[in-house]
Amino acid sequence: MSTKKAILYTNYHGEAALPVAETKGSAPRRSHAQSKMTKHEIPQKSPQQARGGRAEAIYRGIFEAVVEHRLPPGAKLAEEQLGAIYGASRTIVRSALQALAHDHIVTIARHRGAFVSAPTIADAQDVFFSRKLLESAIAREAAQRIKPADVTRLRRILAQESEALRRGDRQKAISLSGGFHIAIAAICGEGALTQFLRSLISRSSLVIALYGRGPASECGHDEHVALVSALAAGDGERAAAAMGEHLDHIVADLTLAEREAEPVDLAAILRA
Ligand SMILES: [Zn+2]
Repeated sequence: MSTKKAILYTNYHGEAALPVAETKGSAPRRSHAQSKMTKHEIPQKSPQQARGGRAEAIYRGIFEAVVEHRLPPGAKLAEEQLGAIYGASRTIVRSALQALAHDHIVTIARHRGAFVSAPTIADAQDVFFSRKLLESAIAREAAQRIKPADVTRLRRILAQESEALRRGDRQKAISLSGGFHIAIAAICGEGALTQFLRSLISRSSLVIALYGRGPASECGHDEHVALVSALAAGDGERAAAAMGEHLDHIVADLTLAEREAEPVDLAAILRA
């Protein structure tokens, strides 16, 4: 198995353009370059700026269908069928599916292929429990370390988020919300903590997409504004409390009910 080239994606929380190794085999591979590529790229990069191509079209097509509840959790994503729908080779389809698996949108099961991920209620609660512990501590620490440039960056994300909400662009709003939380962690550095949070946010974005009640279910914009005020004021305790309450509100707003996987017409959904 050899790595031929790296394909850049703007992942769905709108930040890291993760290079995904295009491989001949079926096992997901992480590019060595990935660790270098995740630095300092919080959400200024729009999906349009990311490198295009069919793999990206497949990534976005499936992601949007999941977020818009057109593709249900557990839906089978047959490589051959996706190749026919997008006019793409198996290699391209596979690299798109691997990128989606990396972002927890898709689960690749050995010998059974790819499916839309189906986080259970317990998974959803577990992810937000972890985020609350981690991000309350991050907020407390970030309030001590924040610099004027960080405040400017956070406010810029808030402005973009506000604009996405106004347009009713749910995918963009979820992306920017995730990017906002990562940007707070990045104030404390781009170390293991931030990388760990990226992974948790990927998972929770899927949970919000699946169990959210609609456009109002994403991170509350007003709560983000309050968080930035606490951080900018250097008030660690207020920032930690605001973060904890904010994450509690997101969970409270989810409609947590197990869903059954039903057979779906991939071509009708993805060509829509
Ligand atoms: Zn939020």
